[in-house]
Amino acid sequence: MSEKKRIVYMDHAATTPVDPRVVEAMLPYFTEKFGNASSIYSLGREARQAIEEARRTVAEILHAKPEEIIFTSCGSESDNLAIRGVAFAQRHRGKGNHIITSPIEHHAVGHTVEQLEKYFGFEVTYVPVDKYGVVDPDDVGRAIRDDTILITIMYANNEVGTIEPIAEIGKIARKKGIPFHTDAVQAAGALSLNVDELNVDLMSLSGHKFYAPKGIGILYVRKGTPLLPMQTGGGHEQNRRAGTENVPYIVGIATALKIAYEEFESNNSHVKRLRDKLIQGILERIPDVYLTGHPTNRLPNNASFVFKNAEGESILLGLDLKGVCASSGSACTSGSLEPSHVLLAMGIPPEDAHGSVRLTLGRDNTEEDVDYVLEVLPPIVQRLRAMSPFS
Ligand code: PLP
Repeated sequence: MSEKKRIVYMDHAATTPVDPRVVEAMLPYFTEKFGNASSIYSLGREARQAIEEARRTVAEILHAKPEEIIFTSCGSESDNLAIRGVAFAQRHRGKGNHIITSPIEHHAVGHTVEQLEKYFGFEVTYVPVDKYGVVDPDDVGRAIRDDTILITIMYANNEVGTIEPIAEIGKIARKKGIPFHTDAVQAAGALSLNVDELNVDLMSLSGHKFYAPKGIGILYVRKGTPLLPMQTGGGHEQNRRAGTENVPYIVGIATALKIAYEEFESNNSHVKRLRDKLIQGILERIPDVYLTGHPTNRLPNNASFVFKNAEGESILLGLDLKGVCASSGSACTSGSLEPSHVLLAMGIPPEDAHGSVRLTLGRDNTEEDVDYVLEVLPPIVQRLRAMSPFS
């Protein structure tokens, strides 16, 4: 009889399992509490109450007002609504056409901005990043023009985990009266989401990165920020996002966010301890490998590397055979042969970028998981290099 294969999941930046406590909170809203939140009878009112309570829970964690929280279908939708919504509203008010962003954004931001440039006549300035993937707030300040209508810079990078100086960029944007959006999808649960301290006007979150289901997101929009709805229809979400509310998922994302911040210290110190052991172990055991992203100012669960003279995708396949789930970049770009735009923007040579591997830890990972990866990874890399024509 074959033993059950060991699975070590180290791809929490791609997605997380749903916390059983979240499932439990959601379940009644699929069945006995199934009402449409717009209906006036008690079943509808019960659903409305659940949504508004979820909104208050989220608002409290963000130090925001409940009416500043919009529930969306995912992080990508939140990014799209923030960027398009502000860009078109600002243009309509005659404020201008110019957007500032970075070259290391997730495609949900990057491709949205590109489309605005290519098809809708907006102009885009990409502020550079340094070798760690950090944006210099002074570069953002220098890029601002009279017609700048939006700045969008991510809070923490999904591939290399680098944390951006959001509060400082926000201060500069605020001084000039320019709406500032941050994609905080990877930061949720790992960093403070206090919108006042961060000086942000719009912030995107995605449930499946913090143990809520896939297919639910949040957009925070500071009161007074111009925003044209991108999905029109009924008057849901205060006329900012039409569509009958997904009550169970809204309950789920709020429950998951609450748990993430109640257990913030213990979860983050747990993953950070494992991450440090993993980074140290890999750098010690394997030659010609380097850490990507900032050495210290990075997400507590992110360990990302370049293995020279080895294909990242081949390493992933080798790890998969051993039951280890990892990634070579963002989930959406792995599988593509193009080197990561993030690594290239950081000045990493394309031949190195092909050897990138990202391991991202989560609540359920153990010390034994790390030991197991440290045991199986070195021979995989060694074997691939022995076969490589370049080594
Ligand atoms: N932004 C970042 C930084 C991400 O990592 C992701 C998902 O990988 C997204 C946006 C998109 O979120 P969703 O998968 O909910 O659309």
